[in-house]
This record gives sequence, structure tokens and C-alpha cells, in this order.
Amino acid sequence: MSAHIIAVTNQKGGVAKTTTAINLSQALVLNGLAVLLVDLDPQGNATQGIGVELNTIKLSVADLILNKEVSAAEVVYQGDGLDLIPATPILARAEREMVGMTNSELRLGHRLNQLREKYEVVLIDTPPTLGPLMNSALNAADSLIVPVDSSYFAMMGIKELLSEVGEIRQGTNQRLRILGYLLTMADQTRISAETWDGLIAGFGEAVFETKIRRSVKLKEAPAYGRTVFHHAPESAGAEDYSALANEVIGRIRVDLPNAEIRLENGTRRPLGVPNDQAPR
Ligand code: ADP
Ligand code: MG
Repeated sequence: MSAHIIAVTNQKGGVAKTTTAINLSQALVLNGLAVLLVDLDPQGNATQGIGVELNTIKLSVADLILNKEVSAAEVVYQGDGLDLIPATPILARAEREMVGMTNSELRLGHRLNQLREKYEVVLIDTPPTLGPLMNSALNAADSLIVPVDSSYFAMMGIKELLSEVGEIRQGTNQRLRILGYLLTMADQTRISAETWDGLIAGFGEAVFETKIRRSVKLKEAPAYGRTVFHHAPESAGAEDYSALANEVIGRIRVDLPNAEIRLENGTRRPLGVPNDQAPR
């Protein structure tokens, strides 16, 4: 087993990065994959969104980046199927310390490499700014999912992100690629349709076929510290993130040709091959 590391990035805030990181992680777990969610945003939204309270956290992703004495395994909180490396507001200070520290932006990747054998997918939730933390995610990742919300400003910023990705690719992380662009908060409005058309015109097949519809259940779930699969398993949000998980599995399969999925009945099937009995 060697995990595929995916960062969910877009330096625009409020585009559903955290919502995607949390619910896609859980959808992949429901497909039988061993998943680690890494919260790399000092706001700790992903951490709290899956029910971990910030004041109970002893070691966090900040320790992983700054403290060599701490082992990668020590910062992992084992959850119900889904493991987490949490973030707390201390991460904001850690980011300031990273400035001017040699190769500090490569550390996260090195530390996560130590965990690759334990997981099939590692998903990183990123902060809404380009800076040392975002660069750490871009250096650690094999690929990126770029959520784009259905709004007038949605496409702005992608160009800036792509130029950053180009720099990283030429420098410290040649394997980095875009796994896909994801339309989020899709609805019946004209602006939503225009955003979709703009994505297809700009990025073609790189756009995930799955659109994440606007859904109250997706918005409510984090308040209960639950993913949408626990909060409202029959909702449109659960359906959409399951569909996205299938697409993601299909796309990363190229990198994991021999990976298998554990089914509920104990048997295994090759990763990415559709199966009617796959648990939802
Ligand atoms: P980011 O991490 O990019 O800042 P969030 O995931 O926190 O974005 O989402 C921003 C807000 O939009 C949150 O309140 C979230 O609950 C809400 N949201 C995200 N996706 C949806 C959706 N599909 N339908 C309704 N609300 C959503
Ligand atoms: Mg967020």
C-alpha cells in the first residue's frame, strides 16, 4: 500500500474546500479505503467538522511540521474508520515561523511520506491563502482537487493557483498534477450554469462530471461534528460526494494499479472497478 496524497486547494475562501475534504474522505472510507484526513487550516474547520474538539488536542499538524521529536504516528487521531491529523489556531504561528526556515515547505511532505504505507488516500484540507502552508500542501501532494463554487468570482484565482502549481512542478514537486476541478454549490441559477460552462471551456475533461449540489444538509452537518453520511445519508449531499468518490477512485487508479478495495463481506476487488454491492 502506498497512499495517493490529494490536496483540496483554491485560495478563495468559501468554495467548499473543507466540506469536500471531510465528505470525500468519509465517502472513500465507505468504499473500503484506508483514509487519512490532514487539516492544514489554522481555523481547524475540518477537525471540528468531524467532531474533534480543539481544546482536547495535544499534538497537531503544527507539531508535525515544526517538531522533529514528534513522530508522524503520534499526531494521528484514530477515528471511526477515518483517521485525522488535526489543526488548531497554533498553526497560524507555525506558519509565521516557517518563513525564512530552510526547506520548511518540504517538511510536511517528508512527514506524510512516513505514513504512506498505512493509507490508500491522504486528503489535505488547505487554508484560503497562498503561503508556506499552501506550498507545504502543494509539495506534499501527488494531485489536487480544485473546488469552484457557483459564483461570479469563482474562476478568479484559479490562474494564480495554476501559476503557483507550475512553479512547484518545475522546482520541488514534479509529480504534482490536477486530479480535477469540482463545481460546488451548484443550483438552478444562470450563474451556476455559466460557471460550469466556463470550467468545461477552460479545463475540459479535467472537470469532474459530478456537480455538488447546494444542500442544507451539507451545511448543517459540521455543526453536529458529523459528515453528511452520518447526518443525512439519504440527502443529495451524500449522493453527490459518493459519486465524486467513485470518480476520484477511477482517476487515482492510474497511480495505484494494484490497489484493492476491501468489501464489507471481507472479499476484495480491484480499486476503481464499479461494483453494485459496494457499500454507500
Ligand atoms: P472553504 O473551506 O473553501 O472555505 P467551506 O467548505 O467551509 O469552504 O464552505 C463554505 C460554506 O459553504 C460553509 O458554511 C459550508 O457549510 C457551505 N457549503 C459548502 N458546500 C455546500 C453545499 N454544497 N451546499 C450548501 N452549503 C455548502
Ligand atoms: Mg476551509
